[in-house]
Amino acid sequence: MKIGVPIEIKNNENRVGMTPSGVFELTKRNHAVYVQKNAGFNSGFLDEDYQNAGAIILDTIEEIYDVAEMIVKVKEPIEQEYSLIKEDQVVFTYFHFASSELLTKAMIDSKAVCIAYETVEDADGTLPLLIPMSEVAGRMSIQQGAKYLEKPIQGRGILLGGIPGVPPAKVLILGAGVVGVQAARMAAGLGANVFILDINMKALRRVSETMPNNVISEFSSEYNIRKHIKDSDLIIGGVLIKGAKAPKLITKDMLKDMRPGTVMVDVAVDQGGCFETTKPTTHQDPTYIIDEVVHYSVANMPGAVPYTSTMGLTNVTLPYVIKLANEGWKKACDTTPSLAKGLNIVNGKIVYKEIAEAFDLEF
Ligand code: NAD
Repeated sequence: MKIGVPIEIKNNENRVGMTPSGVFELTKRNHAVYVQKNAGFNSGFLDEDYQNAGAIILDTIEEIYDVAEMIVKVKEPIEQEYSLIKEDQVVFTYFHFASSELLTKAMIDSKAVCIAYETVEDADGTLPLLIPMSEVAGRMSIQQGAKYLEKPIQGRGILLGGIPGVPPAKVLILGAGVVGVQAARMAAGLGANVFILDINMKALRRVSETMPNNVISEFSSEYNIRKHIKDSDLIIGGVLIKGAKAPKLITKDMLKDMRPGTVMVDVAVDQGGCFETTKPTTHQDPTYIIDEVVHYSVANMPGAVPYTSTMGLTNVTLPYVIKLANEGWKKACDTTPSLAKGLNIVNGKIVYKEIAEAFDLEF
């Protein structure tokens, strides 16, 4: 199969869809891999590394989309890319369709085969292609939150871990999934007082059994959220309802109950956000303030640490890429139920129920 790896053109997205090691695994199986010039540069991979692994380097994104039967990338295509995607072309990437009607309609029109990383699902309900990026974003959310709590960036001016004789900050984490658990681990490691809320008792039990004593688990309800936001310094949104828009757990009216300089990091922004006041931001301009509450809602957090993220992502996507290349998408999805769950839009038809429901479109 001819596989194309374009450069990511979304703002400040520095990851790349395949490492030289991934290219090597494909070329040794007699697939042709076309990598756009400098595609891996920001992740620390040179064109020469790709060439040594058997890739063919092409100058432009148009050439990549033109030659490839399958595109392997990282983020959802942005408007400039819509017209490059062709009928029957397999596009294997993060799509997050539920948060963009424009993208959904463009991919329906393209008649391509859109396989979304974020809905590939194992039999036990876990999302293997989301996990490493959620691990990165969860850990980063505390790093970023700690920074924006500083006074010069209009935070409360509190050090997350406190110091001897001065109490630490309070961190509230919504969702005890991958993002939430990684965030809790980082915040706890820095010495903060951490509360982590979820509606899934199994997740809360896991937290309670495995986390240090400065992490308290509590059931997620509007009542409990309203109670905690009053004295939390940093609030992390890490909830997910698979393939659907995130529930709005913190509404605009709740901001007035928070202290000025509270920081809210909405990691769930890529599914529409779990705070009503969330709007997507970029690494160049990551925050905005509403009612004296600092909001951070960068939709591609892992893009800022591409060295770690690219390797974490390609570790888990490569086995699927090899399968798709060896067998073609139909057979690969027939024989691999977890991959079949990734099919979102096929030749102009939505095949994933929650996406159709998000926009009242035909399923
Ligand atoms: P996950 O499925 O592992 O965890 C989500 C958790 O949310 C689950 O435990 C679920 O029970 C819980 N939940 C659902 N409804 C809830 C509610 N009302 N109150 C409290 N908890 C609730 O998902 P994850 O991998 O941790 O991902 C979380 C979000 O982060 C997703 O939207 C994902 O797309 C996003 N994400 C964003 C970035 C970024 O760069 N911004 C990067 C990675 C992941």
